[in-house]
Amino acid sequence: MKILVLNCGSSSLKYQLIEMDGEKVMAKGLVERIGIEGSRIKHTKTGMDAITREVPFPNHTAAIKYVLDILVDAEYGVLKNLNELYATGHRIVHGGEKFTKSVLVTPEVVKGIEEVIPLAPLHNPANLQGLKAAMEVLPGKPNVVVFDTAFHQTMPPKAFVYGIDYKYYEENRVRRYGFHGTSHGYVAKRAAEILGKDIKDLKIITCHLGNGSSITAVDGGKSVDTSFGYGTAEGILMGTRSGNLDPSVMIFLMEQLGTAQKVSDEVHKKAGLLGVSGVSSDLRDVEEAAEKGNARAKLAEEILINGVKKYIGSYAAEMGGVDVIVFTAGIGENGIGFRKAVCENMEYMGIKIDAEKNNCRGKEVIFSTPDSRVTVMVVPTDEEMVIARDTLRCASEAK
Ligand code: ADP
Repeated sequence: MKILVLNCGSSSLKYQLIEMDGEKVMAKGLVERIGIEGSRIKHTKTGMDAITREVPFPNHTAAIKYVLDILVDAEYGVLKNLNELYATGHRIVHGGEKFTKSVLVTPEVVKGIEEVIPLAPLHNPANLQGLKAAMEVLPGKPNVVVFDTAFHQTMPPKAFVYGIDYKYYEENRVRRYGFHGTSHGYVAKRAAEILGKDIKDLKIITCHLGNGSSITAVDGGKSVDTSFGYGTAEGILMGTRSGNLDPSVMIFLMEQLGTAQKVSDEVHKKAGLLGVSGVSSDLRDVEEAAEKGNARAKLAEEILINGVKKYIGSYAAEMGGVDVIVFTAGIGENGIGFRKAVCENMEYMGIKIDAEKNNCRGKEVIFSTPDSRVTVMVVPTDEEMVIARDTLRCASEAK
């Protein structure tokens, strides 16, 4: 059974064609600059070199049509015809309080996603464009939507209500939603599988650390708290996002900069590792500069490490303990020195790591010592595969 996974941004489209029998990626690619001059597609058929073509894509429908053409191309394609496609899965950023799990698309579901647009004005319209384009060019094929927020809908009000006038929650739905849910849910479940334990018996802290980062407390398989909030700048320091800020700092920035848009750019695009270090948003560049003696780069690294430690401590306190800590995404999977620094001086919490086992990148590994009370591990995330699995399940249930 072959599933097409689509992840649409406002001017981009990422895709993967996955054969679910054996869970193999057959082809994948990226369309960039949709609706902008100079649009192009990079397509990779598994086992072949990537090809890049400059093609004018006025909109998402044109881009998806082209992707489907290339998927049935004699040379670069992987399908004989589009009938081979079982269903399409879509990543949707925001499901609000309405969507608590992945669902098969119906007109009511489309309406539900539209209703949530005020909460994700940049992302949901782009995701919807992809969904509507797929419905248009693949009539009769089921579509399934998978939400970044859904996994976190189990959080109790004490974790998701902000300490401002309750009317903003009641009237405007201002609350913590959390994102990266597909990833947190997947790595927590996978960690339990690797350990041969029932997830219901585990308190897990999942650290998804990439360009965007969030940390989640998963108690008994359910998200009970997460560091992302109403939006995606709360929590720990990120590539270009600030993480937690005293509201007074926001007021100061508002007075300095004058418009909400400028403040938004400041905390989303100019902050984080980039803002503090002045070097780069990429942790590898920051680490390199720090090693050469750049004090601000060193400071940026330290703020990030300290932030992750603080969340681990607070989530352990919130759950009344922690059995497993999972690192995932770009930094979590590859940052050997970073992981070591986070776990340093944590023996008091029962965290002891084996430096040699930690010396690895991008694979499933337990790197705590056998006598460590807390199991510390790396579990590479695979959001596309989770979307494909949910898509297969929801589409099959409906048949
Ligand atoms: P995104 O959130 O865009 O999906 P990724 O999960 O790909 O991002 O993570 C990107 C981050 O991973 C970058 O900050 C990059 O520096 C970091 N990263 C990748 N490889 C390494 C490495 N070897 N050491 C430290 N950080 C790394």
